[in-house]
Amino acid sequence: MAIRRIKIKHRPLRDWWGYAYPEENRIEISTNLSDSQYLDTLIHEILHVLYPNAAETTIADQASTIRHYVWRAGYRSGRPLRKPRKKQ
Ligand SMILES: [Zn+2]
Repeated sequence: MAIRRIKIKHRPLRDWWGYAYPEENRIEISTNLSDSQYLDTLIHEILHVLYPNAAETTIADQASTIRHYVWRAGYRSGRPLRKPRKKQ
């Protein structure tokens, strides 16, 4: 089993749930997603790194399918919820 090493960074993103930088083996994921959105985005961006030439619709469909079955199997994130802080 060869696991591709991918660097994952979590930070607030304004316009997207995630970004992928396949040539750098790096992804970024927004910090203000629900568990289900996070799971979908994590899978989605990993697929972009693994298949950099795949069409967006292919990646999106595959990520949704994988997310559906992983979610249905009961997997959830144990990460603490990180919501954007409101200015006071
Ligand atoms: Zn995408």
